[in-house]
Amino acid sequence: MTAKLIKGTEIQKEILEEIGKEVKEIKEKHNVVPGLVTILVGESPASISYVTLKIKTANALGFKEIQENQPDDISEADLLALIDKYNKDESINGILVQLPLPKHIDDKKVLNAIDPDKDVDGFHPVNVGRLMIGGSEVKFPPCTPYGIQEMIVRAGVETKGAEVVVVGRSNIVGKPIANMMVQKGRGANATVTIVHTGTQDLASHCKRADILIVAAGVPELVKPEWIKPGSCVIDVGVNRVGEKISEKTGKKIAILKGDVDFDKAKEIAGYITPVPGGVGPMTITMLMLNTLKSLKFKLGISS
Ligand code: NAD
Repeated sequence: MTAKLIKGTEIQKEILEEIGKEVKEIKEKHNVVPGLVTILVGESPASISYVTLKIKTANALGFKEIQENQPDDISEADLLALIDKYNKDESINGILVQLPLPKHIDDKKVLNAIDPDKDVDGFHPVNVGRLMIGGSEVKFPPCTPYGIQEMIVRAGVETKGAEVVVVGRSNIVGKPIANMMVQKGRGANATVTIVHTGTQDLASHCKRADILIVAAGVPELVKPEWIKPGSCVIDVGVNRVGEKISEKTGKKIAILKGDVDFDKAKEIAGYITPVPGGVGPMTITMLMLNTLKSLKFKLGISS
């Protein structure tokens, strides 16, 4: 059997079109657009490229976008003051601080300073608590898990009553996606197991998964024989395993591999996400959706 590919690039296009349409409607009706500020500290090439993509996407959707590029040696107090400024700015609905921050800055302190109602990354303890409670309490699910859930729903995979196994217990992927899948409601209502480095028999858990979500950061950790035939495999892992010359640009690019042995797994699974082009594009998409939602909450628009 050859699995159906769940392509993040295609789902991203669909969702961005929906967001763009809503932005236009809200602008016509309320004369306001979602406002996002991206705060970048220092000049790490990886961070610059992530932020640049976020800015480009926000601009293409018609958002108000403010770029705050700060030097590497900005003091923690100055960064906190900057966040406070945007917490008070009525035209800003989302505040994004690009991680990692330089060592002299306490990133927890910085993230916790963001107004929870503008915390579109969903990392503030208040939003983590809201996610845990579930239902109408939830405001901003963290972007990667939010994207994973949306991919599963849009691929038409049944989650109600499904056995979901999540490999990895990080605060940004493993724990929140497990928490989301266990709630009542759309794209959830599943029986969830989290496995991690302390788990004794990883294989036996993976083997019974109807939906296997892997976020370990270990190339090809999941072996083909661990995959239940016909199941849905979501590979979150992005691992650089080497370099190659791009046929398109002639430049050196990274060779990326997921946490699942894709070539063999696709012959066993019913659905599978590729790496790259799977979960990757969804994170930025859901950041845009959270920023739109933040404006809608403010305007009292439901759905
Ligand atoms: P992390 O390092 O914070 O957490 C990894 C988790 O996997 C840990 O909880 C650990 O217990 C578990 N783990 C590691 N090795 C294991 C093993 N051998 N057996 C069982 N469990 C094991 O990583 P993270 O931030 O959650 O990211 C995981 C992967 O997902 C990385 O490759 C990362 O690059 C990728 N990622 C992709 C996106 C995206 O595509 N948008 C977003 C976030 C993370």
